[in-house]
Amino acid sequence: MLELVANKPRRVGFGVMQVPAIWFTAVAAVLALSACGAPSTTASTASSPSSAASGSPATASTDACPTQLTPAQTEGPYFKPGSPPRTSLIESGMTGTRLLLSGRVLTLACAPVAGVTLDFWQADAGGTYDNSGYRLRGHQSTDAAGRYSLETIVPGEYPGRTEHIHVKLRAPGKAVLTTQLYFPDVASNQQDSIFDPHLLVTMQSTATGKAATFDFVTSG
Ligand code: FE
Repeated sequence: MLELVANKPRRVGFGVMQVPAIWFTAVAAVLALSACGAPSTTASTASSPSSAASGSPATASTDACPTQLTPAQTEGPYFKPGSPPRTSLIESGMTGTRLLLSGRVLTLACAPVAGVTLDFWQADAGGTYDNSGYRLRGHQSTDAAGRYSLETIVPGEYPGRTEHIHVKLRAPGKAVLTTQLYFPDVASNQQDSIFDPHLLVTMQSTATGKAATFDFVTSG
């Protein structure tokens, strides 16, 4: 069974030790590179700036090895099979904040997993799903380095649900993992009964909108 984990930044307890900051920085860099190989091109800092605001654990980024399995989440009522293969869900006239979501699929040992199909679906900026067609739906496969990249928009909220993107991951010979991704610093996160801070992306502002990273991790 495919089990995926949130890639929580590795915290090795230096916070309670009297260790010179420069030494910590050097050791952290060596650990990241030796254990995980070269960081993803989409890598960002290891800690999520949202953590303090949300009161949740630091979230996934692409420069640290995973430490626990990603939780599965409900598929919800709006999944449709047969989405088109595409890495951009942007269409002419589409409103909303542009979002580049990227990351990797890794094993717990930090090995990339190639050929995993990620099938994304989400609401539009107004919180509405396209249930007749395939607007804001699409799938792609991870490359040899386990990477994926999706151009889309930040989804809108709808009654009972905070901002989220649904995804199904299918690895060859493995069971499907269905889960959802969430966004930091969204007030409605705390009112959503299935919100899970382990599924928070790491978010940054860019010149054109937002860039988010999240690493999915399989047990192998
Ligand atoms: Fe939904």
